[in-house]
Amino acid sequence: MDNKDLANLIFPNAKDISYYEEKYPERNLKEGAVVSRFAPSPTGFVHIGGLYQALVARTLTKQTDGAFFLRIEDTDQKREVENGIEGIIDSLKDFDMSPDEGMVSQTEEVGEYGPYKQSDRKEIYQAYAKYLIEQGKAYPCFCSPETLEEIRSNQEKAMERTGYYGKWTRCRRMPLDQQIEKIKNGEHYIIRFKSPGNPDKKIKHHDVIKGNVDFPENDQDVVIIKADGLPTYHFAHAVDDHLMRTTHVIRSDEWLSSVPLHIQLFMELGFKLPKYAHIAPIMKNDNGNKRKLSKRKDPEAAVSYYLQEGIPADAVKEYLLNIANSNFENWRRANKDKKMEEFEFSLNKMSVSGALFDMVKLLDVSKIVISKYSAEKVYEETLEWAKRFDKELESLLEKDKDYSLKVLGIERGNEKPRKDIAKWSDVKENISYMYKELFDNSNETYEFQKISDKQKVKEVLTKYIEKYFDINDDKQAWFDKMKDLSEEMGYAREVKMFKAEPEKYKAHVGDVSTVIRVALTKRHNTPDMYEIMHVLGADEVVSRLKKCIESL
Ligand code: GLU
Repeated sequence: MDNKDLANLIFPNAKDISYYEEKYPERNLKEGAVVSRFAPSPTGFVHIGGLYQALVARTLTKQTDGAFFLRIEDTDQKREVENGIEGIIDSLKDFDMSPDEGMVSQTEEVGEYGPYKQSDRKEIYQAYAKYLIEQGKAYPCFCSPETLEEIRSNQEKAMERTGYYGKWTRCRRMPLDQQIEKIKNGEHYIIRFKSPGNPDKKIKHHDVIKGNVDFPENDQDVVIIKADGLPTYHFAHAVDDHLMRTTHVIRSDEWLSSVPLHIQLFMELGFKLPKYAHIAPIMKNDNGNKRKLSKRKDPEAAVSYYLQEGIPADAVKEYLLNIANSNFENWRRANKDKKMEEFEFSLNKMSVSGALFDMVKLLDVSKIVISKYSAEKVYEETLEWAKRFDKELESLLEKDKDYSLKVLGIERGNEKPRKDIAKWSDVKENISYMYKELFDNSNETYEFQKISDKQKVKEVLTKYIEKYFDINDDKQAWFDKMKDLSEEMGYAREVKMFKAEPEKYKAHVGDVSTVIRVALTKRHNTPDMYEIMHVLGADEVVSRLKKCIESL
């Protein structure tokens, strides 16, 4: 009897690994092409850190004409949540980051290197586990939870490292006939890797992000196949990333300390080692303390938050690239009109210790991103958002699309577009005064500024209506009339005149136009008033100004 008999007894139906090696050949890609993946577990909401990793991996694969795939890591079935897989797929779709290969719905997938859901790959893992057993590199372990607990407590008493390794193992050296007998007797077991490591020796690892790191060799005989027949993360990682021909394992740095084990598994399985890039978590400044973005404390940790707020996916991605590569900001400054995909991303420029996430900056980026959108795009995206989150806004936008396009087109598509929208949930508040029904029903009040004396305000508005307002004026004529009106009322017709002789004037042309602006919109901060008047139309302008006069 030999290891082969043991392997056959445990996995009688498993195929020879040569079958899989042939079925999943090296990919036929050009030199330097990166193959990478997003490999989440469907255990809850998608974290912004996950999206960040996926973006990094995807960006590199796109940049090198490689391949990006989505693998669902569902081997811990106790932790799986309902609709977890769909949640992941939908999030990638929402951010326009759908993979080239992998799961596309709960049950369907595309690509030649699948199945892409680990629970569907049981027989593949078993084939490789069988191979290791045949080679004497893995063995069945019959230790009960109580035995493992006993080992642990002995280790603690002896002040030694905990775990299943070296002299502490019980089943590693069990004679073959005993192993076979126990299995035949129906005893419960799992499969452990027989680590060849010696922790007194060091391995050198070069991580693409973290640089050179030294570790003691692994000597833990980790579990590779659990009692339910499914693999552990470590074993599945080795088998999957080998067979899916991953060139770059880009993942969270919580896995960095497992690298010695992973290298060993790849070696013992005879696999070529991929490159590893371990990404530090996204951090947040919390009253001066840097801490991880937390699922529990920070709503912005969930990618669904951005959708609900209506922060465009482009803005989130652009911001994530900003924190991923600090040279992105300069590049963007020099290349204002380029697509973010044109930025040359480098893994090795990523922060070793964790990028800082700043919502205020993200919203600034978002304002710039949205400022470049056409009115049509702002309309479509806002409508899309409103359909899910704001029915009132939805009907407002849909009632008269052409009018809404004009409203959203104010100060857009020119050299210096408006930058007052950071998220779709801002839109209603930003444009409500442009809609007669909302303006008439709003409980906002007229907050006049420098010129606030009722008589003066009335006078400005009355004169403006009677003598100066003409919807057919071009912008220059319109502005000249504002100046004429100011002069007529004894205010400075130019701001610089006011500045030169402040004692001579009570106010200037800017203050006069503020009076008209407030009367027209109940706001003192709006985009270009000339454009606003044109969108509202002459009748509405006059009616609003008159209504204001009446209210005084
Ligand atoms: N399922 C693992 C996780 O969610 C994936 C790690 C990896 O990318 O290999 O942490």
